[in-house]
Amino acid sequence: MNPTHIEHIGIAVKSLEESIPYYENILGLKCYNIEEVKDQKVKTAFFKVGDTKIELLESTDPEGPIGKFIEKKGEGIHHLAFAVKDIDEKLTEAESKGVRLIDKTSRKGAEGLNIGFLHPKSTFGVLTELCEDKNK
Ligand code: ZN
Repeated sequence: MNPTHIEHIGIAVKSLEESIPYYENILGLKCYNIEEVKDQKVKTAFFKVGDTKIELLESTDPEGPIGKFIEKKGEGIHHLAFAVKDIDEKLTEAESKGVRLIDKTSRKGAEGLNIGFLHPKSTFGVLTELCEDKNK
């Protein structure tokens, strides 16, 4: 896959409103974008730390993936996202090496990135996202 860097770390929270002040006032980061991703049933808030972002995820529907995650596991780290080039080729390559995919082809995620998920059963428990910024 040869990722260039960790694009972001996704963290499930019950409330953006309650969690953003921790990132801003204690860690001293600045929330620069809040965006709803309707098909994922989440509202996201973004912070930058060097080349890496923190993506807070608040569920907008208890039946959505983040709603279910919080119900089962509580708040916490939800996924790890690697920046890659040629994401669709990388997904195909991973599948050919026996990795179970959640997304066989990339789709649009937050911030206009093309994204695709690998199944945590194939990645030793870490829900893994590949991201490509086509504008770079
Ligand atoms: Zn993500």
